[in-house]
Amino acid sequence: MDYPGNLFVVAAPSGAGKSSLVKALLELDSQVLPSVSHTTRPPRGQEKHGREYFFVSDEEFDRMVLADAFVEWAHVHSRRYGTSKKMIEDRIARGADVILEIDYQGALQIKRVFANAVLVFILPPSWEELRSRLERRGEDSPDIIEMRLENAREELAQAPQFDFVIINELFERALFDLKAIVHAQRLKYSAQRRARADTFQALHIP
Ligand code: 5GP
Repeated sequence: MDYPGNLFVVAAPSGAGKSSLVKALLELDSQVLPSVSHTTRPPRGQEKHGREYFFVSDEEFDRMVLADAFVEWAHVHSRRYGTSKKMIEDRIARGADVILEIDYQGALQIKRVFANAVLVFILPPSWEELRSRLERRGEDSPDIIEMRLENAREELAQAPQFDFVIINELFERALFDLKAIVHAQRLKYSAQRRARADTFQALHIP
């Protein structure tokens, strides 16, 4: 199915800088909307239902799984998180571009359902840099850092299945690359034909 909006899926090993890049893109480009997931965890702090997440009960989540409402879902820290198919469809059907940050397995599942989804993989410039970013972040113990690096090996092996790769060496450069990917999708024939129908008509282009 060809929707007027684009669906961008960004994956990366932890420490590659995915969240900061997506956050910066969302601040710069109001045509891009985040995907809001469903979760069974309770809201934290100022989180609002429908903004950070749709906070649902276990029963509601079960019901959605049975109804095949999720493009993908996963257990994270003993809670469940899922991406609703309808939520994405509603947004891209009305012409918004949707971006979601997700692990590589979720990303590949999304491509199976939304064949036109644009998959973007963010790479760190080197192992040393990935390690030092995880260390500098100061969020994780040495054991957890080793585990994240081990996971990263498996995750990086999936990069060939993605459409685009950004090497996040310099943040500004990586953000420029991400903007370029988003912009290029908007310049595709079908997108321009839709957005600039009058111009095409005036130029007698089918
Ligand atoms: P938090 O509870 O801290 O907001 O998120 C915990 C983790 O759940 C994060 O790693 C986040 O990427 C992941 N997560 C959030 N939404 C989804 C989703 O819809 N699907 C999957 N597979 N993971 C998600």
